[in-house]
Amino acid sequence: MLPDYEDFRLRADAVRQRISSACIGAGRDPAGVELLAVTKFFPAEAVAYAARYGLRAVGENRVQEAAEKRPLAPPGIAWELIGHLQSNKARLAAGLFDRIDSVDSEKLLVLLDRAASELGKKLPVLLQVNSGHDPAKSGVEPEESDALLAKALSLPNIRVEGLMAIAPLSEDPDVARRAFASLREIRDHLASSHGVALPVLSMGMSGDLEAAIREGSTLVRVGSALFGARV
Ligand SMILES: *Cc1c(COP(=O)(O)O)cnc(C)c1O
Repeated sequence: MLPDYEDFRLRADAVRQRISSACIGAGRDPAGVELLAVTKFFPAEAVAYAARYGLRAVGENRVQEAAEKRPLAPPGIAWELIGHLQSNKARLAAGLFDRIDSVDSEKLLVLLDRAASELGKKLPVLLQVNSGHDPAKSGVEPEESDALLAKALSLPNIRVEGLMAIAPLSEDPDVARRAFASLREIRDHLASSHGVALPVLSMGMSGDLEAAIREGSTLVRVGSALFGARV
């Protein structure tokens, strides 16, 4: 159940505090890490909370859910897709979202480029990389990331802003840390070999945002720490 706004505000302040402490511990400026509120499974009111709190964007993991919710939510906040996108929903997603953070195939890139062209927009994306080699997670394997970026850079209606990863679920915190470090190394390598910036590194969630920030995250995707358990 969605908490009331006051409860949400306290939770959001606490998450911000965690982000700041992690940044200070890592010698980073807290302004360099953005909080993306993950509103999946929660009603449109959760999006209104995020907007009222002053967040730039919310993340949703399913196209259909976002399509139903967006008309009910206030304007003035950006929507990002953070879950796997099926080809047959590419066109709908290109119109609905302000950025697709989970692009994981060349086929999808081509479909999104075509849809963006028809919509007369340049669509921002992140490329999702399975940097933790997790068989259960989507994202391209690190070895395929170079070809995926090359494809994205060749498309006129796509703008690649960075990379995203989800750490494998593990009891061992080192597993997540290695996946985060690996995403940063992949980003550094791709940025220099292609001569592009790739400033956004989307990694870290409620349970592991400190480790992600230590390894260079610029965008943490936080759901349960803001809104409570998804039931
Ligand atoms: C649900 C989800 C999150 C948020 O997870 P919490 O543990 O609730 O913070 C982050 N990223 C992705 C891709 C998700 O699907």
